[in-house]
Amino acid sequence: MIRTIVGANWGDEGKGKVTDLLAASSDVVVRFQGGANAGHTIINEYGKFALHLLPSGVFHQNVVNVIGPGVALNIEALLSELESLTARGVPKPQLVISDRCQVMMPYHIDFDKFEEERLGKSAFGSTKSGIAPFYSDKFAKVGIQVCQLYDRELLRQRLEIALVKKNCLLEHLYHKPPVDIDGLIAHLTDLAEKIRPMVCDTTMLLHRANREGKTILLEGQLGSLRDPDHGIYPYTTSSSPLAGFGCVGAGVSPRDMTDIVCVTKAYSSAVGAGPFVVRLDGPEGDELRRRGGDAGEFGATTGRARDVGWFDAVATRYGVMVQGATEIVLTNLDVLGYLDEIPVCVAYELDGERITDFPATPLLSRCKPVYTKLPGWKCDIRGVRSFDELPDACKAYVAFIEEQCGAPIRIVSNGPKRDEVLYR
Ligand code: GDP
Repeated sequence: MIRTIVGANWGDEGKGKVTDLLAASSDVVVRFQGGANAGHTIINEYGKFALHLLPSGVFHQNVVNVIGPGVALNIEALLSELESLTARGVPKPQLVISDRCQVMMPYHIDFDKFEEERLGKSAFGSTKSGIAPFYSDKFAKVGIQVCQLYDRELLRQRLEIALVKKNCLLEHLYHKPPVDIDGLIAHLTDLAEKIRPMVCDTTMLLHRANREGKTILLEGQLGSLRDPDHGIYPYTTSSSPLAGFGCVGAGVSPRDMTDIVCVTKAYSSAVGAGPFVVRLDGPEGDELRRRGGDAGEFGATTGRARDVGWFDAVATRYGVMVQGATEIVLTNLDVLGYLDEIPVCVAYELDGERITDFPATPLLSRCKPVYTKLPGWKCDIRGVRSFDELPDACKAYVAFIEEQCGAPIRIVSNGPKRDEVLYR
């Protein structure tokens, strides 16, 4: 059985909590794309954690956590994240790294920073963790795979090829010092030794686990609208956060993917640049931002204030569709308990016409939200233990979102903690 957890929107939907929850009934949890550029917030018996690169199964001793070949592996970030867990009393997790995974280089991070600086006002809102330069190199075939770190001669040859162009750009475009290849090789060799016991052929491991009937959980980062093909290009990320890509980035067969669990919040939030039709400015937005999430809507990796707005059913319906969701998990429902009426964006107005299909990026900046208002429930639903005990208006809100999104909502989250979930 292979379950995939992905985001329906712009990221930060609460996937970390859902993955942590479902990890308890999984044997293997796999990261299949992205890198240390986004964060999952997990609150459990050990405390509050922001995981960036580690799979969310690391709090469960019986779970094998896998960094799949599709991930941008920042070895130093991974090691320091591991250390920060054990320093806080979490037992050392089972973790394996694909030998085909590619390595985030220090120069990828530098190039990300230098390029955002160069672009100035037209910058993409990158988290400057090297993701775009990393994936550019991967597809230009000048990336370095983990397995290549253990062959010094091969590593030198590969780096020599890559560095000709890098150093030319560093010197002439960014006016920075060139990369010293000997220093870089020494640094990479040192890191390679530290992860050596964890490196293996994870593709074989996953296929074997699947044949043995184990439960595998693929964990996506970000969400549908950050997909380079189907999202709000160019305000996207550089690897696909779609469940379909999960098969590729993890290394499992699409035939075996049984459940696609799409996570969305009961309102909308987005961080970084790019169009966001339901953005709320002013005091209404400030209040929602302050009340959102577990401690306000601020990025888990960057601390940046997230844009917030009412539930965008146009974007979410599209996000759920491109993920191919078999079910939806609705998170942060408790946050809306202060409202008399809750607006939901059911359509966009584009040049005087009402549209319900999410359009291509250039049209989004001309779209205005069309809202329907639903009655609020005016009470705190944290602490409610079963779906049936929720106020009627709250249940009606969930049913409305389900109808708008076109996939069943089976799990509702009514607080940031692991046990704050209601099964419908
Ligand atoms: P991810 O990247 O999709 O894992 O999402 P993040 O962890 O970045 O953001 C989700 C935020 O919502 C975090 O602050 C979570 O602690 C918080 N959260 C998740 N579920 C709930 C919920 O049901 N209620 C509340 N109030 N906060 C939640």
